Amino acid sequence: MGTTESETVGPSPRTTLRRMKERGSHERQVIDRILDEGIFCHVGFHAEGTTFVQPMAYARVDDDLYLHGAPGNRMLRWLADGAELCVTVTLLDGLVLARSAFHHSMNYRSVMVIGAGFEVVDDDEKQLAMDALVEHMVPGRSVDARRPSAGERRATLVVRVPIAEASAKVRTGGPVDDLDDLDLPVWAGQIPLALVAGAPLSEAGLPPEVSVPEYARVYPERRGQRLEGA
Ligand SMILES: Cc1cc2nc3c(=O)[nH]c(=O)nc-3n(C[C@H](O)[C@H](O)[C@H](O)COP(=O)(O)OP(=O)(O)OC[C@H]3O[C@@H](n4cnc5c(N)ncnc54)[C@H](O)[C@@H]3O)c2cc1C
Repeated sequence: MGTTESETVGPSPRTTLRRMKERGSHERQVIDRILDEGIFCHVGFHAEGTTFVQPMAYARVDDDLYLHGAPGNRMLRWLADGAELCVTVTLLDGLVLARSAFHHSMNYRSVMVIGAGFEVVDDDEKQLAMDALVEHMVPGRSVDARRPSAGERRATLVVRVPIAEASAKVRTGGPVDDLDDLDLPVWAGQIPLALVAGAPLSEAGLPPEVSVPEYARVYPERRGQRLEGA
């Protein structure tokens, strides 16, 4: 799912980076890479006088994000009615230890998408979104798993969120210490962090002829992480 014609989004008054602007980007390529590598998002919304931030699965299809859940899901119901939202996705790449406590930091890549969602009512689009949600989880899975029945599609509320107002922010590199602290006898540097996938664990009771599919077998490697237990 590539980036489409809209190569940048904004900045709008709400997505103009104020501090450390050089770490920010409104380029769709930067934004999309982070969205595509992330696995889940946090959705902030305001309902019935309270502000909530809820973790959710998501998928990107070109210029839109899709969220899904049960029709009774409070957040999705609220968003389907046009409530304002803010979706964030964060990839944590490392801890940054400076000589001074003050300059400790983290390396990260994160995206914020602000706007409003729409309920997906078209059945074909719903199917596309549900395929994309599975495919986002594990590429290759959507053509293998049984696809949702008409009843399952009816029992799923899907919300589309246009990536129309969005920003990315990326921090890389080591600590930025004060010049006066550079001679301190204190270790400084980075501790890299990454999400590690383990080897797939087969469910009990599978027919003997069903082995771990290629897309699951290579998943840990594709994530670029160590393949433990293989
Ligand atoms: C990684 C991840 C992915 C998820 N993906 C999806 C998804 O794709 N679709 C989906 O419908 N749900 C998903 N969930 C679950 C989701 O976060 C909510 O729990 C669920 O959608 C709440 O639905 P509700 O309307 O029943 O809850 P609400 O009625 O909205 O929640 C009532 C109260 O329950 C508590 N609560 C609800 N959810 C959580 C939570 N996650 N953690 C702690 N407290 C909570 C809060 O206090 C909240 O105010 C995901 C959760 C995680 C962690």
